[in-house]
Amino acid sequence: MFLRQLFDEATWTYTYLLADEQSKEAIIIDSVVEKVERDVKLINELGLTLKYAVDTHVHADHVTGAGLLRERIGCKTGVASSEGVSCADMALKEGDSLQFGKYALKILETPGHTSGCLSFVCDDKVFTGDALFIRGCGRTDFQAGDANTLYDSITKKLYALPDNTTVYPAHDYKGMMLSTIAEEKAHNPRVTLGREGFVDLMNNLNLAMPKHIHVAVPANMKCGLDK
Ligand code: FE
Repeated sequence: MFLRQLFDEATWTYTYLLADEQSKEAIIIDSVVEKVERDVKLINELGLTLKYAVDTHVHADHVTGAGLLRERIGCKTGVASSEGVSCADMALKEGDSLQFGKYALKILETPGHTSGCLSFVCDDKVFTGDALFIRGCGRTDFQAGDANTLYDSITKKLYALPDNTTVYPAHDYKGMMLSTIAEEKAHNPRVTLGREGFVDLMNNLNLAMPKHIHVAVPANMKCGLDK
């Protein structure tokens, strides 16, 4: 399987382009609107057919490129059904899967960072969005986030994947790019606290609001398009 990890330096966001080399069918995960031209160029250079542009959740820190990619390329967009994004072509839920060539991207509901967070599983890889970071996790203090729910999503769903599953997060702020389920089980400093310690820590992070939350969330409810 072809996999390319792409980075948006303004918001520390990882975008993932996955493709089946034979059929050339592709999926993009968590695109960023300012990086759509870069992504379209890469897709064209590689001769890929982008079938789907999906988001792990309604982001608060950047505007999705999904709607613009749909306009430019004609792909279908998808977010969690529970997010109520009416412009999306697909309302995704647990158990759904998106086929690209001989591969399937399976949808896992992993709420807690937001109430509609999804993770995407493909073979021995999991794209965890903001549910699980490398040695961290997404905050739980807005967009109906909940620390208890996130603890369940991580320990009951993501940690139930095989230990050698590679973890690809939606962000990293320390220059790390990927991890594994086994590594996070052993070394994630938040989750290894156990439920009580995790919830207590998450409820007392006292983080500033993301700079662009009041722009990004409404824009993402419109697939990143101002219409
Ligand atoms: Fe987020």
